[in-house]
Amino acid sequence: MAKKKKPFTKMQCKECKEINYFTNRSKGLDEEKKKLELKKFCNTCRKHTPHKEAKK
Ligand SMILES: [Zn+2]
Repeated sequence: MAKKKKPFTKMQCKECKEINYFTNRSKGLDEEKKKLELKKFCNTCRKHTPHKEAKK
């Protein structure tokens, strides 16, 4: 079995579209689970905003 590439996810602010966070999906995370969304602090918006997983 070929080794899978390390899943590497960008978290993008939904409001300003700025990429603020990078996250590694742990192998425990279900890959079928699409688009994760988290509330994170955005330095551009200067507040907590929903951050969406961004595709390359
Ligand atoms: Zn923002």
